[in-house]
Amino acid sequence: MDELVEIRWHGRGGQGAVTSAELLALTAIREGKVAQAFPSFGPERRGAPVIAFNRISKDKPIRARAAIAEPDIVIVLDPGLLGIIDVAHGLKDGGTLVVNSPRELSAVNSEIGGPWRLAVVDATRIARDILKRPIVNTAMLGALVKATGIVNLESLFQPLQERFGRLAESNIKACREAHKETLIMEPTPGAKRPEKVYPVEKWPSWKELNIGFVVTEVGSARGYQTGYWKSEHPVRDNERCIKCGMCALFCPEDCIRQTEEGYFEADDFYCKGCGICARECWTGAVTMVEV
Ligand code: SF4
Ligand code: SF4
Repeated sequence: MDELVEIRWHGRGGQGAVTSAELLALTAIREGKVAQAFPSFGPERRGAPVIAFNRISKDKPIRARAAIAEPDIVIVLDPGLLGIIDVAHGLKDGGTLVVNSPRELSAVNSEIGGPWRLAVVDATRIARDILKRPIVNTAMLGALVKATGIVNLESLFQPLQERFGRLAESNIKACREAHKETLIMEPTPGAKRPEKVYPVEKWPSWKELNIGFVVTEVGSARGYQTGYWKSEHPVRDNERCIKCGMCALFCPEDCIRQTEEGYFEADDFYCKGCGICARECWTGAVTMVEV
């Protein structure tokens, strides 16, 4: 490996990007390297975009603590982020981009290919099959190792064992499976960076805010298009819904409205996929479904 490798993880709250960065750093340290891991959180919660970072050095102390602007490696845990965030921003020419996607390698390359190696794996399917939950962090560690060799695959297993306890075996299996299934494309000579336009949210100026509040309407996100952020959304079963309105009462985004028929429906544009409505619906009428 190079003297110092800088890595940026993109995921959503709840997908385990921060845990992945920590596990990678622990593994590197066990191999005798020097490593650091740190997250960058905004004020948001589950479903919101999250960034985490690693610096791994062969043997030199790492003094830098700042966020990484020009990474050697970028890992994307959520395929939905490709359309809303420039995940490859600052990625060095000749670097590596590792993406969780159910799509073919060539299709992902058409969207986000550039002067870097591209590695693709359907980590969500692997996690659902093996862990029974779409938590892709350990599968993506396997994909990262396959694409970069930053640490040895076997070295990951002890930190996984210590972190996940009785769930370690299935996480190691997901890691191994993703390592096996990851497909890699080398950069084509002269490849250009993709020229994509990403959505920009319009934030209100302070003059537009209501006095005493930090948002333009009731609820924390009615003013912003936070629906872009989610990986799951609530689906209601009318047969079970008794129109009590508890889901709307507890929705932290204030994005559930009553329809003319009296049912309560989430506005996908603002729903952040936190799953609180499903937990609060006491008739079991709401289920969270992957977007
Ligand atoms: S809490 Fe459940 S039963 Fe009540 S309105 Fe919402 S979906 Fe219907
Ligand atoms: S509709 Fe449900 S999942 Fe969406 S933000 Fe509201 S409580 Fe969360």
